[in-house]
Amino acid sequence: MIPQSAPDEPREFCGVIGVHGHPEAAEMAYLSLYALQHRGQEGCGIVSSDGIRLYKHLGQGLVNDVFHAPEILRTLKGGQAIGHNRYSTTGSDQLINIQPIVVNSKEGPLALGHNGNLVNYRSLRERLQSEGAIFQTSTDSEIILHLIARSRCGRFTECVKEALNAVRGAYSLVLLSRECLIAARDPGGFRPLALGRLEGGAWAVASETCAFDLIGAEYVRDVEPGEMIVFDEYGMRSEKLEGAGRRSSCIFEFIYFSRPDSRIFGECVDKTRRKFGKRLVEEHPVDADIVISVPDSSNTAALGFARRSGLKFELGLIRNHYIGRTFIQPQQSIRNFGVKVKFNPVEGVLKGRRVVVVEDSIVRGTTLRTLTQFIRKAGATEVHIRVSSPPILHPCYYGMDFPTREELIASNRSVEEIREFLQVDSLGYLSREGMLASVPGEGGDYCTACFDGNYPVPFDDPVEKIHFDGPLREAR
Ligand code: SF4
Repeated sequence: MIPQSAPDEPREFCGVIGVHGHPEAAEMAYLSLYALQHRGQEGCGIVSSDGIRLYKHLGQGLVNDVFHAPEILRTLKGGQAIGHNRYSTTGSDQLINIQPIVVNSKEGPLALGHNGNLVNYRSLRERLQSEGAIFQTSTDSEIILHLIARSRCGRFTECVKEALNAVRGAYSLVLLSRECLIAARDPGGFRPLALGRLEGGAWAVASETCAFDLIGAEYVRDVEPGEMIVFDEYGMRSEKLEGAGRRSSCIFEFIYFSRPDSRIFGECVDKTRRKFGKRLVEEHPVDADIVISVPDSSNTAALGFARRSGLKFELGLIRNHYIGRTFIQPQQSIRNFGVKVKFNPVEGVLKGRRVVVVEDSIVRGTTLRTLTQFIRKAGATEVHIRVSSPPILHPCYYGMDFPTREELIASNRSVEEIREFLQVDSLGYLSREGMLASVPGEGGDYCTACFDGNYPVPFDDPVEKIHFDGPLREAR
């Protein structure tokens, strides 16, 4: 079986949703999970509360697979619900790791959905285990629930605060008890988390605002870095976590992860991605006939490139969206099957043309090399690659599933050597300065560690997803 994502693409990693004060809270969460499907396809779940108990349904697969019958949603009672789409950046993709995680504590049942990676989870987990804690999952997220359960603070919200003040790294999370729903974002604000309002006064929080569009919620503002919002019978109130200081929002959310129709970190993704494409023309102009993108994540940057260069944007590669999570390789081997099943070149567009291919990022380079071969075979006379991000030189410890440094093509080859590897006529990357000039706010508001090695939050040790449950994923 071959995993759905092409081998050298960066991977998405989880989306969260919370709805408070709505008679159909679980239905709203379910629709939102559809909108956030791009952030994780391994599994998903919803937990709801009617003030007396929690109700949960979760499973492996896409939202459509897990919530395959209307009766399922009818079992998720109550006016509060949280939901989660999972892509495993820590822990394996077993059913036990699908979120929201539900545990029983002295406060009653608690459920948690978490996006991001905790960088001190190894030391925290070892300490908790040495004190007798028994973990039911192999994810970093469960640490937070253990810390809440063991807290001696009197009030529940103080227990949550104490737990969040003890963890380091990236978290945009939703937490549900019988009585309240809590949304929180780490002090650096690595991952996005937006606050919205539904008709009738219900509240919603979501990883991306595209979820609000589907359920008819109005975007109010971002949940601030280091902010914890409590929704309960008294309404909504905001509290501050310790350590808020330097912002470190993940710039890769603009480059690749988030949907172009979302608003994150105070700006529309579409607008920022177009700026990347425009800046790329200024930094690496090229004499060519057409611009194509590697769909879908590069579409918007390619449109920006086409607009600024005056070249015509064409659909030269078609992506198959209906593959599912895995597919079965035919016994008779087909060369480059994994890439072929996902992308197909359009000969009528490419034949006899000098082609600029805009790609959002290069991780290992193997998929892009194969795509280049397809484009040439379809008759392109020249192939020029333009990348709407700088070379990726370092791994990410805050939630992005990059391979090890040795496997990152740019960490051990020059741009000219990468061009030779890709067998293309020219190759140009967006500069770090160009990238930072295209995003809103100050350059210092962003994490750029995978490009420059400046990690804004120190980590215990390199955070390996296989640490607690062994190597489960095949090599990519
Ligand atoms: S290292 Fe890169 S991918 Fe990871 S949080 Fe920082 S910018 Fe994002």
